[in-house]
Amino acid sequence: MLSAIDRPWPTHYNPQMSRSFGPWRVSGRLILVVWLVVSSCSSSSQVAKDILPSMSGPSEDEEVRISREFRREARKQLKFVTNPEVERYIDRLGQRILSTMGAQPFDYRFFVIQDNQLNAFAVPGGSIFFFTGLIEKAKTTSEVAGVLGHEIVHIKGRHMARQSGPDAISLLGLLGAFLLARTGSGGQAAGAVGQAIAATRQIAYSRQLEMEADTLGVRYMAAAGYDPKGSVGFLKLLDQERALNPIDVPAYMMTHPITQERIANTELVIRSLGKTEIKVEQPDLLKKIQVIIRIERRDSDAVLAEYDKLVRQNPESAESLHLLGVAQQLTGQLAQAKQNYEKARRLSPENPDLDRDLGRLYTQTGEFALARAAFNQALALDPKESLTYLYLGELYEKQDDLRAAAGAYLNALNLSPFWDKPPYRLSVVYGKLNRLGDAYYYHGRSLLLQDDDQRAAADFEKALKVLGENSPRGQLIKEELAALRARRR
Ligand SMILES: [Zn+2]
Repeated sequence: MLSAIDRPWPTHYNPQMSRSFGPWRVSGRLILVVWLVVSSCSSSSQVAKDILPSMSGPSEDEEVRISREFRREARKQLKFVTNPEVERYIDRLGQRILSTMGAQPFDYRFFVIQDNQLNAFAVPGGSIFFFTGLIEKAKTTSEVAGVLGHEIVHIKGRHMARQSGPDAISLLGLLGAFLLARTGSGGQAAGAVGQAIAATRQIAYSRQLEMEADTLGVRYMAAAGYDPKGSVGFLKLLDQERALNPIDVPAYMMTHPITQERIANTELVIRSLGKTEIKVEQPDLLKKIQVIIRIERRDSDAVLAEYDKLVRQNPESAESLHLLGVAQQLTGQLAQAKQNYEKARRLSPENPDLDRDLGRLYTQTGEFALARAAFNQALALDPKESLTYLYLGELYEKQDDLRAAAGAYLNALNLSPFWDKPPYRLSVVYGKLNRLGDAYYYHGRSLLLQDDDQRAAADFEKALKVLGENSPRGQLIKEELAALRARRR
């Protein structure tokens, strides 16, 4: 059984040493740093613990930089799920929990990685990553919220820095090793993988910090309206996974060892909360997200067969009909999807998620008036969902009403300012409208949200040339460029 790892990280690093690790250029700069950090761990950590005073760790600004740098590297090495439904699902969950926590020093970003491992992790500075393996295993959105609440507390509480006070460089290095542990098993030498996994274990938090993340995480998720029992449910699920398959320990447990003590502590916190008000969408959206993820990894035959069977067993279940329709729509069976969506809507008329799916389907089949009505209905039930505005914009684009499309995308952008899809669509629409300055500007904003600072700056420069420095937007762009340059220093 794994125990909580409470070893300190190296609190200094020697730039001379890094050169001797030159051959490790396999995965870029970030990984290069890793090796020296990892290699110095084993020999010097005990010494460091004994003689070095604890350091304050990287400042908050540095943590934001770490997050961005890590995301840039992660985008090269991991496969991000870019389906808008999945992106919005995890972001909505995260924002809801954040809304109970008051002002935050970071802009939190939530990502889903296509990877069957049962894993999730937080990077200092506000980036949280969920693997599809974890989302697929979860039984309810409240379980996912439990993990998310826990990870947010690691970031908010600055646990990585607090644990051992490493400088920003060594933190980045450890995180790079974490990436390598994910991607190295293919072509890398066995020794390299072993070292990377060792580094992954080093990211494990101390027992005390795990308990803090559990305790506060449960409180925040409950305040956000999720069922606090979800957090314990997920801990138990992990424990079962390990019992069933002791060799292939879920990756999440390497960084967050599950102990009976943690489970007991979480149960105690839940009891202390008393009765909480649970406000989870019914039906739980998790099942639809699981359908999408499975189809994205080419499991569509099994998904279709499964939901076909469910519908035959219970032809009056709106949820099963809807989910079968989702699978059919994603695999191009539009006529069947339409039939099932429409029947589901007759059975369950007040479901904005279903209305939105219907709107999108009618957009695909060219039934624009029906599409418009379905989106209006979705917005009447849930006026603040950026996803509906994104799809509404697509409908207007298909109808060649580009001004209306731009308006819909602007609404989506205002509701979800850290989402790269609305500004991207805006850049396309402004391009079609021949408003090139605006097209470059929004393209730059979308690149910025994908952490591609260099190309974003190039687009902003082009926008500035077209719009002129003294135009209202020109002023704004100059400020964005100045911020970008300051960041690159
Ligand atoms: Zn943890």
